[in-house]
Amino acid sequence: MDLFEYQARDMFEAHGVPVLAGATATTPQEARAAAEEIGRRSGGVTVVKAQVKTGGRGKAGGVKVAKSPEEAEEAAQAILGMDIKGHTVGTVMVAEGARIAEEYYFSLLLDRANRSYLAMCSKEGGMEIEQLAVERPEALARVEVDPNTGIDEAKAREIVEAAGFDEETAAKIVPVLASLWEVYRDEDATLVEVNPLVKTQDGDIIALDGKVTLDANADFRHPDHEALEDKAAADRLEAAAKEKGLNYVKLDGSVGIIGNGAGLVMSTLDVVAYAGEELTDGEGNHPKPANFLDIGGGASAEVMANGLHIILGDEQVKSVFVNVFGGITSCDAVANGIVGALNALGDEATKPLVVRLDGNNVEEGRRILAEANHPLVTIEETMDGAARKAAELASAANAA
Ligand code: GDP
Ligand code: MN
Repeated sequence: MDLFEYQARDMFEAHGVPVLAGATATTPQEARAAAEEIGRRSGGVTVVKAQVKTGGRGKAGGVKVAKSPEEAEEAAQAILGMDIKGHTVGTVMVAEGARIAEEYYFSLLLDRANRSYLAMCSKEGGMEIEQLAVERPEALARVEVDPNTGIDEAKAREIVEAAGFDEETAAKIVPVLASLWEVYRDEDATLVEVNPLVKTQDGDIIALDGKVTLDANADFRHPDHEALEDKAAADRLEAAAKEKGLNYVKLDGSVGIIGNGAGLVMSTLDVVAYAGEELTDGEGNHPKPANFLDIGGGASAEVMANGLHIILGDEQVKSVFVNVFGGITSCDAVANGIVGALNALGDEATKPLVVRLDGNNVEEGRRILAEANHPLVTIEETMDGAARKAAELASAANAA
């Protein structure tokens, strides 16, 4: 589960990571009231920040500095309702304004390929970090972190030295990295990222923007994490699915999934998760399954249309993977179902669909799809190939 910035901020504070005061607001009036309170500590200056689970808010106009409560209200008015990479802003955080001298970057993540943790750190943080990682990778220090020992003082020193900080700044960052390690370990995170980690004009080190991904496998150890779930988005879609009698569970990713049979859908989630990880970007983002949806045995046009309608109504979804194994309902019936559903949905169908059919009467099913030649549909023969294609399409849509 990815956290909102304000949730990461609270978590950082609880573990002694230096952060600035912040409060959430869902209306411009609330933002103004919050700015009156929070601005007292920073000469009236606050920053109004869109709370959406995606990076690049700054560039999209979702982060605005306000010099008065009135300006905070105006900023919130502009940001609330804004669309940032397909996420509609429903909440802003009003944060104490920082007087930034320098912006740095730090992240700690699970490095699956090396069965280890990886710390990344740079003196050049801020909004261009992905570009930096690509164009001047030497400016982004990468240090392996042993999960058994984590980031102790010696490891923190190694990281800041690899990043090339001067002695005075290094000494101030070391304890902050140790606290961020505590967040990572104690909360069972797979990613803790701070961008920017800033030095203020007074020389203080502060985590100004935080991104945290928690490991759902460890939820049983953290009953308090349940309260961090974004229930509103999940509830709306799950209620709509229930009404249609669909077996649907909302997840947190961008690849919509439709399959027939719970086992097939479960393994589809796995192959999409795996294909998505290969596409991890500089910010640690990668495509993940957006839902579980089992349309069962009778994949009729109506059931297919209902399923697609729910999935396309999830604003996080960027591509859809339809994975069907023809049995009693043969592939030609499923293919007719897909074509019929797309016709029924008309303009509502706006996201690319990757279809993989196999099993009973597969040739005829593929022929029907090929003949329909729908511009949004790509046919793939294998499950792995289809998962890769769907993940690539979601990734490309997110980057756009
Ligand atoms: P992101 O673009 O989604 O990563 O959002 P950030 O929270 O990282 O904010 C983007 C940029 O806004 C930062 O790199 C800063 O340059 C700027 N910013 C954020 N908070 C403050 C603040 O308190 N004061 C000032 N002056 N700039 C800020
Ligand atoms: Mn940031």
